[in-house]
Amino acid sequence: MNLEGKTAIVTGASRGIGRATAIYLARSGAAVIVNYAGNREAAEEVKQIIQSEGGKAEIVQADVADYSQCESLMQSAIDHFQRIDILINNAGITRDNLLARMKVEDWQQVIDTNLSGVYNCCRTVLRPLLKQKSGGRIINLASVAGLHGNTGQANYAAAKGGVIAFTKTLAKELGSRNISVNAVAPGFIETEMTAQLSEQVKAQVIERIALGRLGKAEDVAEVILFLASSSGYITGQVIPVDGCLVM
Ligand code: NAP
Repeated sequence: MNLEGKTAIVTGASRGIGRATAIYLARSGAAVIVNYAGNREAAEEVKQIIQSEGGKAEIVQADVADYSQCESLMQSAIDHFQRIDILINNAGITRDNLLARMKVEDWQQVIDTNLSGVYNCCRTVLRPLLKQKSGGRIINLASVAGLHGNTGQANYAAAKGGVIAFTKTLAKELGSRNISVNAVAPGFIETEMTAQLSEQVKAQVIERIALGRLGKAEDVAEVILFLASSSGYITGQVIPVDGCLVM
């Protein structure tokens, strides 16, 4: 999987799945923009890891929920590495609660970050991608919750379901430009996002997973790397990475 000469932007690359993805893409030769929201120290650590392995990385702070910050994020990538080839829309948050108790701000924050954030980054990356005329790869992080729903996650499932529909639509719009657009739908992955689950809930989840374990960030990152480095003939697809939690 050779990504030499390519530039990848990974949103939310300071931790979890984004961090593992940034490191995998860099190991395959891509120059990586490590985006983060507030955790500069963690983003700096990812950059250090990549550079210590001989790779290229720069950190860029931007809130994906803010359109103008996404414009600046794309411009920073051009300023640092002169081109953009791969966009991984990974940044995401949860604000779980049953709908009866879900506050308006918890609905809105999740929609703004997890769904509008994907629109903001895709919309702002299009101009440089189309100008380059050399195709591109966009990979969006969905979730099995967006495919099947999940109690306590009406906001999150709605956002991720939206990401899936958005992915399919964009794949149709950009196919003729050799820009593939796919989604990866993780199940339960061991990151800070799922660390808040109690041991009892984790045990119940593991019972439902055929592989008998939660996933690791690297389990997802290797699928993202595959899509990022593929010929592009896979597009408009949603690939679950869930150890057979749902089928
Ligand atoms: P995580 O460990 O909680 O990390 C979240 C990352 O997103 C951090 O780098 C964070 O940056 C960044 N971020 C949050 N809000 C942001 C914003 N407004 N702008 C820019 N960056 C922002 O999450 P994860 O578990 O790796 O999840 C990554 C993606 O996979 C998410 O889209 C999530 O919905 C999806 N997913 C995860 C699971 C799972 O089980 N973990 C399952 C299905 C789908 P800071 O460090 O600066 O805060």
